[in-house]
Amino acid sequence: MRVAPLARPTLAAVLAVAALVGTPRAAAAFCRTTTCRPEKDPENCKKDTNGCSTKGNPLIWPTSCVSFAMDKGLTRFLPPELTIGPLANAFASWQEAICPDGKKPSIAFVMPKEPVSCSEPQANTNGPNVNIVFFRDDFWPYRGIDGTLASTTVTYDTDGTIWDADLAINAASNPLTTSTTNVKYDLESIVLHEVGHFIGLNHSDNGEAVMYSSYSPGSVSRKLQADDLKALCTVYPSTRAATCNPTPRGGQATSCEATSTGSSSGCALSSEPVAAGTTGGPSLFALGSVATLGLGMLLRPRRRHRRAAPSSHR
Ligand SMILES: [Zn+2]
Repeated sequence: MRVAPLARPTLAAVLAVAALVGTPRAAAAFCRTTTCRPEKDPENCKKDTNGCSTKGNPLIWPTSCVSFAMDKGLTRFLPPELTIGPLANAFASWQEAICPDGKKPSIAFVMPKEPVSCSEPQANTNGPNVNIVFFRDDFWPYRGIDGTLASTTVTYDTDGTIWDADLAINAASNPLTTSTTNVKYDLESIVLHEVGHFIGLNHSDNGEAVMYSSYSPGSVSRKLQADDLKALCTVYPSTRAATCNPTPRGGQATSCEATSTGSSSGCALSSEPVAAGTTGGPSLFALGSVATLGLGMLLRPRRRHRRAAPSSHR
């Protein structure tokens, strides 16, 4: 179920994902991020007993395949050969999951063939875009418990359609590791959680879920749990009517410096509808088999709390 090298055109279709049937409690635990943001509008954006927003439009990618790129600089704290695999694995785990109908979810990921240089969240309403995964090696701009480990910025339309998502990893404050021994802050575990936000999921109150709000330093959590699969397969069922269009709105950008006009920076962005562009970006190749995909405004660092102390938020 993991993908190893990035360059593989298809992922090994393994999947031994266990049954998705959780307990009734677990089944109800997952939450979707919506266009109604309690932190911005606590009066109107109410939550249910699971902590899920009950207002607003749930976020979702409209296409069945979403592109993402890794900033070519990666991080100076880990060698590239140990960094790319965990990042790819994290995306592949969501993509290669098997839903209760025996099929994969209707969302897959592809990567641009061209290298991308971008280390800021950006969502450009007037030009090409890139869904970027990047490390912050020297400075982590988010304060407080939110975003201690990572931050995912999702940009969407008012109907909940996601059109850009950027994932920042905090290498400045945390010693990231990739081995299953001597674990400090496991890179794949952290990114696996963030990819859940990337596709529109919010935190779950199920303590076993990858989408639970915190990570215990020293732990490894690289496998989606029943609650995560329930979320994934509910939002992106194999039967969803979605086509594969991985080209970002406005075209595929190969840098963010040149496309920062009108962008968000990890905070709310009042998005304006923009015509879907196809300004000849670089072609994309499949990271894995393709499945399905949509856009809105926002995002923010998300956090997690996990059972034991100490915990770190992400
Ligand atoms: Zn989170």
